Amino acid sequence: MTPTTHHTATDPTLHDVVVVGGGAAGLSAAVTLARSLRDVVVVDAGEPRNAPAAGAHNLLGREGVSPLALLEAGRAEARAYGAQVRDGRVASVARTDDGFTLTLTDGGVLTARRLVLATGLVDELPDVPGVRELWGTHVLHCPYCHGYEVRGRWIGVLGTSPNALHQTLLLRQLSDDVTLFLHESPEPDDEGWEQLAALGVRVVTGRVREVARDGECLRAVVLEDGHVFPVNAVAVQPRFVARTELYEQLGGEVTEHPFGSFITRDPAGATTVPGVWAAGNAGDLTAMVGAAAAQGVMAGAAINADLVQEDVRSAVAARRRSLTSTGAAS
Ligand SMILES: Cc1cc2nc3c(=O)[nH]c(=O)nc-3n(C[C@H](O)[C@H](O)[C@H](O)COP(=O)(O)OP(=O)(O)OC[C@H]3O[C@@H](n4cnc5c(N)ncnc54)[C@H](O)[C@@H]3O)c2cc1C
Repeated sequence: MTPTTHHTATDPTLHDVVVVGGGAAGLSAAVTLARSLRDVVVVDAGEPRNAPAAGAHNLLGREGVSPLALLEAGRAEARAYGAQVRDGRVASVARTDDGFTLTLTDGGVLTARRLVLATGLVDELPDVPGVRELWGTHVLHCPYCHGYEVRGRWIGVLGTSPNALHQTLLLRQLSDDVTLFLHESPEPDDEGWEQLAALGVRVVTGRVREVARDGECLRAVVLEDGHVFPVNAVAVQPRFVARTELYEQLGGEVTEHPFGSFITRDPAGATTVPGVWAAGNAGDLTAMVGAAAAQGVMAGAAINADLVQEDVRSAVAARRRSLTSTGAAS
C-alpha cells in the first residue's frame, strides 16, 4: 500500500491534525484520519496507563493482548496509512491564525489545523507503602480489567473513598473471600452494613500501615496496630486525573468529578475549545481500551468532516473570487 496524503493547506508544514498521545484513543484517531488521506502526526510520550498490566482484557478479538504489543501494532497500522508517529512529549500549545503551534520538550515544533488530545489520565494512588510498587499487578482498581484473574482468591479492598463499598460489592461477585479495610473511607450507612453482612464480607476498621510484599509478590495488608491479614490482591480507588495541561493552555476549563477531573466533550469528542477534540481517558474517566479506541475513531471522523467543510468553504470562496475577477456570472 502506498498511501497518498492530500495536503489541502497552502503551508506544507501545516499538518491537518496533530494527535497528542499515542494510546488506544490517539492511534485510533490517527488511523481514521490517515484513511481519509489526512496529514496526521501522533506525538506520544510512551506512558500508556495500563503499561504495568500483563494483558488488556474485554477487548474483542485481542483478548489478553499485551498492552504495549497492542500499541506497537496500532503504530504500525497508522504508519501503513501514512500517519507519522513520533516519540516525544508536547510541552505547550498556542493558537495561531491557521490552527495551533505545538512545542515539544525536545525543542521540536509542529503546526496543525486541528488538535486531538488523547493524553490519557494519571491514576493518583493512595499513599500507602507497597501500593505503587504492586500497582497493575497485585494492586488493582477495576473488576473488569483484572477481577477475573483474581477470582476465588483472598481480596482486600483498601478504602479511601465512598466508592469502596461499591467496589467491594463488585469484587464479591468474583470471590467468596473479600475484606473491606475501611482505612480512610467513610463508614457504610445502615444499608451498606446490611449488604456487607448479607454477603459475608469481612470489614476491618483502623488504618492500614502497608501493603506488605516479598519483592514482586503481595503478602498481606498490615494495619497500623500491627494486625496482619494475608491477601492475594488489593483493590484501591485511585483519583483519576486527566492530563489537561494543554487544554488549559488553550483556555479550556477542566471538569471536576468526585472520582477525578477530565475534559468535557460532546459524543464525537469536540471540546468547548474550537478545533480541539478529546478522546479516551482525557475526556472520559471510565473509558476502557475498547471505548477509548472507539472515541478515537469518532473524533477522527468528526475532524475529517469538519476539515471537509472548511475546505469546501475555501474552495467556494476561491471560485467566487476567480469568477468575479474574470467578470463571469456565478
Ligand atoms: C493497571 C491498569 C490495567 C488496565 N487494564 C485494562 C484492561 O484489561 N482492559 C481495558 O479495556 N482497559 C484496561 N485499563 C484501562 C486502560 O488503561 C485505558 O482504557 C486506556 O489506556 C485509555 O487509553 P487512552 O488512549 O485514553 O490513554 P493512554 O493509554 O493512557 O495513552 C495516553 C498516551 O498519551 C501520552 N501522553 C500524555 N501526555 C502527553 C504529551 N503531553 N505529549 C505526548 N504524549 C503524551 C502518554 O504517554 C500515553 O502514551 C487498565 C488501566 C490500568 C491502570
